[in-house]
Amino acid sequence: MDTLTLTDRLTATIDDKRDDLIALTQDLIRIPTLNPPGENYREICDYLAKRLSAKGFQIELVRAEGSPGDSDRYPRWNVVARREGAEPGECVHFNSHIDVVDVGRGWTKDPFGGELEDGKVYGRGACDMKGGLAASIIAAEAFIECCPDFRGAIEISGTADEESGGFGGVAYLAQKGFFAPERVQHVIIPEPLNKDRICLGHRGVWWAEIETYGEIAHGSMPFLGDCAVRHMGAVLDEMETSLFPALAAKRTDMPVVPEGAKQSTLNINSIHGGQSEIVRPETGLPSPVVPDSCRMVIDRRFLIEENIDEVQREITSILDGLKQTRERFDYGIREMHRVLPTMTEKDAPVVTTVTEAIRATLGTEPSYVVSPGTYDQKHIDRIGKLKNCIAYGPGILDLAHKPDEYVGVDDMVDSAKVMGLSLLTLLGPRD
Ligand SMILES: [Zn+2]
Repeated sequence: MDTLTLTDRLTATIDDKRDDLIALTQDLIRIPTLNPPGENYREICDYLAKRLSAKGFQIELVRAEGSPGDSDRYPRWNVVARREGAEPGECVHFNSHIDVVDVGRGWTKDPFGGELEDGKVYGRGACDMKGGLAASIIAAEAFIECCPDFRGAIEISGTADEESGGFGGVAYLAQKGFFAPERVQHVIIPEPLNKDRICLGHRGVWWAEIETYGEIAHGSMPFLGDCAVRHMGAVLDEMETSLFPALAAKRTDMPVVPEGAKQSTLNINSIHGGQSEIVRPETGLPSPVVPDSCRMVIDRRFLIEENIDEVQREITSILDGLKQTRERFDYGIREMHRVLPTMTEKDAPVVTTVTEAIRATLGTEPSYVVSPGTYDQKHIDRIGKLKNCIAYGPGILDLAHKPDEYVGVDDMVDSAKVMGLSLLTLLGPRD
């Protein structure tokens, strides 16, 4: 007679796999999947395919042909592994991006060494998000061992290009039906949000390029031309006096972290006017001309309470106002990128399930957060039409993209238990 409950067996099995979890994380870090340019995607997909096919997963390798950056030199490979259970039921999908950002300066560890020290595994991508990927694999493998006759299916995907928008990764797979609601019912993205937090979604993004026009003339006689940079100065002035205070006053009920992102924000991403900049002295001095064009790229992050038309109107009304009041002012505007805000309901099944698993594993109440920036949930929501999706995984968000990035082994073990218990609730035997 088995005296241990299934829950106890599952958590004990995950504890037993601690060394395996460390080794797996190290192996993943040692495959340098830098993006840009998108290196070694095939290598890491093959590694995951080999590991998961040995555990009974069916493997699909999908190249996002024609997606931005895809080439024979840097093919955008993705892997989707699916393990069918013993009887029909729902599908739980763990999605992790396989790419990592540039190493940058300031490291004291080997960025691709996967060193283990004081209970931490170091390396680029350790927390964002190879540690999360490893934890989800261990969770699934332990669950399958403890509960071989589970209902439904488990999917694990490793996807390309999240750091550059996800078009060669989750967006491509969503277009091919991999996240269709009839195939997948629950999605967990093990991004490094801290093991006691559930991330419900993200704010919206609107990127646009504003151009002011002028008239070229000799720089010694600027009165014969019209300076586009001065027109842009007037735009900046309006933004400072009216737009920035207005944005700061817009507060959201979304639980966005950090606190400063609980409002609408605007970043001026770049500004350039006139001739191209003189970067090297040997190219000589610039010639004296009045700039006839000035371009500014803005990055506006908006709230679920705002709509995109209103966000655009705030900008165009400033520009149209200047057209009325400022002599010879003229402008163009071009949208570059848009992502609508998304937030999964707190009573969605994946949220309540992971909430219970956090309580059981950590003995604390989870906090619910919303990300200031976007991640692959946008494609799952918009293209896949799947709302039952969260980000939950080990690691400290603030370490992402920094030198000496690491993931704590205890955190990975704990979050693997949370993911394993969530599988037990959703796919385990009915009691
Ligand atoms: Zn990430």
